[in-house]
Amino acid sequence: MFLFDEGKNFYKGNLHAHTSMSDGRLTPEEVKALYAGNGYDFLAITDHRKCTADQDIYKNMLLLPGIELDYTMPLQVIHLLGIGMTRGVETAPWTSGPQAGIDAIRHFGGEAILAHPNWSLNTLEMILSLKNLAAAEIFNSTSRPPWNPDRADSTSLLDVAATHGLLLPTTASDDAHWYNGDACCSFTMVNAHENTALALTRALKDRAFYASQGPRFTQISYENDIVRVYCSKVRRVVFHTNAPYAPARCVEGDGIIYAEYALQPQWKETYIRVVLEDENSLRAWANPFPLMR
Ligand SMILES: [Zn+2]
Ligand SMILES: [Zn+2]
Repeated sequence: MFLFDEGKNFYKGNLHAHTSMSDGRLTPEEVKALYAGNGYDFLAITDHRKCTADQDIYKNMLLLPGIELDYTMPLQVIHLLGIGMTRGVETAPWTSGPQAGIDAIRHFGGEAILAHPNWSLNTLEMILSLKNLAAAEIFNSTSRPPWNPDRADSTSLLDVAATHGLLLPTTASDDAHWYNGDACCSFTMVNAHENTALALTRALKDRAFYASQGPRFTQISYENDIVRVYCSKVRRVVFHTNAPYAPARCVEGDGIIYAEYALQPQWKETYIRVVLEDENSLRAWANPFPLMR
């Protein structure tokens, strides 16, 4: 089994950004110019409750339609990103609850992503109750100081969900509002045959992407109980599974570009998530996949 299709390309994009159309400090034009100038292949502007873009090209960057829906629940909030849908979502009955929001996004041709679950204080029960999410944000640049409490990284929460059987794919996004250090930090690499809204939305549906702050995956394979990882130079490769302890969980060294992890039956591992960390402590997260044993 190979996680990525080497006959396709990787496209770099940000799927979560705010502008002056809601509570962001830059105008849509300024945000587009910023990401295009930083080499992004695609961008979704996801203003609160506003579907801010039709499919478009800005310089060489693809603009995907985006929206962020929000719900206030007892002891937690739910924020949902909609990517790739039409404006009909704005007037759909999404306010009745988060599942209605996911359903509305999908009804109008998009895919739904659970934004910053750790920042939102989402419970396992809430995450498990949501059906048909395409992904969850495993890292959100803005969900940390100086803008927020230190809850940017949702890996442990999503590991709990994966241990309970929900293997949500993961994105990394900026969620920039202030544009004083919160932009162009975290991104999603989509494995698609072309940089079009149709191909990218399809890849989101097909789990063909990974999340990153910098390190790159080339390939991950799984065969005969061995997981093999090929990547850009990193100092650490970590294999997350449902087993709290298993030996050889972390591979460390200078300039690692290959690592492997041999599964052993006694640990009863059901899924795996590969996380990279480079010499600057920047990480990348592959989507979790099930282990057929
Ligand atoms: Zn949010
Ligand atoms: Zn947001």
